[in-house]
Amino acid sequence: AVKLKPGYLDAHELLGEAYYRDNDILSARTQWEYVLQVDPNRKQLKERYDKACREEVVESSFNKTVSQSRHFNLTYPKEVTYQIRSYVLSVLERAYLEIGRKLGGVFPSGPIQVILYDTQQFGAVVQMGQSVGGVYDGKIRIPVMNEKGEGLSDEEIKRRIYHEYVHVVVFELLKDKVPWWVNEGLAETFSKEFSSREKTMLEQFINSKGLIPYNNLEKISIKDMFASETKMSQAYLQSHATINMLWSKYGQGRFLNFIQALKRSENVEDALRNVYHLDYAGLSKGVLQSIQR
Ligand SMILES: [Zn+2]
Repeated sequence: AVKLKPGYLDAHELLGEAYYRDNDILSARTQWEYVLQVDPNRKQLKERYDKACREEVVESSFNKTVSQSRHFNLTYPKEVTYQIRSYVLSVLERAYLEIGRKLGGVFPSGPIQVILYDTQQFGAVVQMGQSVGGVYDGKIRIPVMNEKGEGLSDEEIKRRIYHEYVHVVVFELLKDKVPWWVNEGLAETFSKEFSSREKTMLEQFINSKGLIPYNNLEKISIKDMFASETKMSQAYLQSHATINMLWSKYGQGRFLNFIQALKRSENVEDALRNVYHLDYAGLSKGVLQSIQR
């Protein structure tokens, strides 16, 4: 057997990643295929590779001629109208400014890749439940049409874009040093109101089972959650209520400190304690108070 320098395959994997981000899936696949031939035990890479193959199939007919704005590149199936495309780009640019400012002046240099789908194509690529309105996995992926090819409402498209764009900024700030509930709660908080309807739904969950302990919420796996619609709904509502409370009660400055504390700390509860003087029990109390008012 040939003993390779350990860094050698990693370099090819990274090169594949760079191609992938640049939307050149064929070149990415070639690099990754090579790595997997030499070292078939890279499970995560295998998953990424399989997903890239699915994307290639679904997106091969998409329009690659550039539809772009200052910070975004758009790829889309030919059924997406010019009207929807220009609406999407203008909302993306607005999100870029608004969310970048809210999170302390974070403006990724880009271009950020955005791929539009109808719901069926989206399902074929990401293989998650029906309730998922978008994904950020290095690219923003958003279904903007139903299976009949009818566009979703402007309001719904905007909500999805804002939600996913928050993930872009959070990734820029924290990479993977962010607990799931903070990331999703923030995306929800910046993309929609915590409405009285949501309040009522969360109250119902709390009355039957109480809040999900934050320790569990932190460790919840995406796969676990997609197994149960109810569990997912409760986890999102609670995350939304929590970040909504922290943001509106304590303000932007504190929240930015919290983000810095997460960056430095190994422990989420420590970061919370340092900045908000709350442990998970105190946080639960605060959330209950905020929704029972
Ligand atoms: Zn999300």
